[in-house]
Amino acid sequence: MHPRTLLAVAAAKAALTACHLSGRPGSSLPGRAALKIDPHIIAPLAAGIRRGIIVTCGTNGKTTTNNLLCSTLEAHGYRVVSNRLGANMLEGVAAAFATSGKRPLGYPDADFACLEVDEASAARVLQDLHPDCMILTGLFRDQLDRYGEIDLTMKALEKAILEVPDMTLVINGDDPLTVYLAKKSAHRIVSFGVSEKISNEEDEIREARFCENCGAPLRYDFYHFSQLGVYKCPSCGFCRPEIDYDASEVRLSPQLSFDVKEPGTAPVKISAPMTGFYNVYNILAVYSVLREMNLPADRFNEILRGFRPQFGRGEVFHIGDNNKQRVLLNLAKNPAGFNQNVSAMLQDRSPKDLVIVINDNAQDGRDVSWLWDVDFDRLADETIRSITVSGLRAPDMQLRLKYVEIESERAPSVEKAIDTRLADGSENLYVLVNYTALYEAHKYLEGLQK
Ligand SMILES: [Zn+2]
Repeated sequence: MHPRTLLAVAAAKAALTACHLSGRPGSSLPGRAALKIDPHIIAPLAAGIRRGIIVTCGTNGKTTTNNLLCSTLEAHGYRVVSNRLGANMLEGVAAAFATSGKRPLGYPDADFACLEVDEASAARVLQDLHPDCMILTGLFRDQLDRYGEIDLTMKALEKAILEVPDMTLVINGDDPLTVYLAKKSAHRIVSFGVSEKISNEEDEIREARFCENCGAPLRYDFYHFSQLGVYKCPSCGFCRPEIDYDASEVRLSPQLSFDVKEPGTAPVKISAPMTGFYNVYNILAVYSVLREMNLPADRFNEILRGFRPQFGRGEVFHIGDNNKQRVLLNLAKNPAGFNQNVSAMLQDRSPKDLVIVINDNAQDGRDVSWLWDVDFDRLADETIRSITVSGLRAPDMQLRLKYVEIESERAPSVEKAIDTRLADGSENLYVLVNYTALYEAHKYLEGLQK
């Protein structure tokens, strides 16, 4: 290894030790330290990965997809470099490689690297990474003032994808934006999707009703949610691709189950202790990669049963006497994600209380106008006993609810909001938070669970 790379690895590991000692979680310091010494540190370290490099991009579902893929590979005995905690900018990816080797100056000793990569960092990361496979989970309006609209996200991803000479794109075929993007490259495309209609959510916001290719309105047989569905362009012929990994017989409660069909084989039954239709896509994405890379998929259901989502992605806490108080924490950071969270929550027909925390720190996006694109009127549901709002933009959130004639209480902090509802005796509490509220909510709930 080049002396500069060795030095960068040593700096990253020293920075990581310093972070641990000072109790700072998920710091980007190790990656920043390494990149300062060797701006292209990812390239030589990634070259040492033995079997394959898989990157996950897309605005929603990256962390769950990437972590499920890591857990599956590790369950089969493979060693994996990953950024499981979701540090998905250039610094986070650099840190994942630089700090993974056991020896102080060593290369990562790993069969696979599985990395979620932020769209805005993708071009820079992929320049050095050269993945074998890239998962595209789907593209939804996200954090407006950071990227200024979905078009910029797509441009950033397009640049990243064209940068890599040869890889397989594993894409959500139900998303016309993702399909359009993937088809701009010459990469091999493998698609997953759901070809049968399963929901009746007709009123949701749909980001891309127009053909990206020619601008004509797309014609849909049906929608799943947001702009996902079975579509074609009547004008230029752009259409949903043939789906390689197609889910059918989808059940969303009491837990997810579905069959996956791939051409020429019998359907495989998949079930997972998760809820939320979006998780069907996350699971399909991982299954497609396993099959495409000739990796074992026979123990997939068993692995799904033991899979614990990364914090704040549908994580369940049990609190109080006899652990009777159940709290579900979930990240909800854009309209598509929020609407999906609401759908999953309303599938649960037992009485519940709801806490919503909205911040507008830099990582959240300063602009919270997207709240107006969420179908909050659906919260006027008989199973929801109370709604408590908190966070820096609690007044905006409360106003948004008021607009659809839904009453809410305001709490000065996420801790206080949770405490009040638990003190009321809530046995089924949903906590929906955007990005920067996630860590504190998680930490607090974890403390209560002990
Ligand atoms: Zn068209």
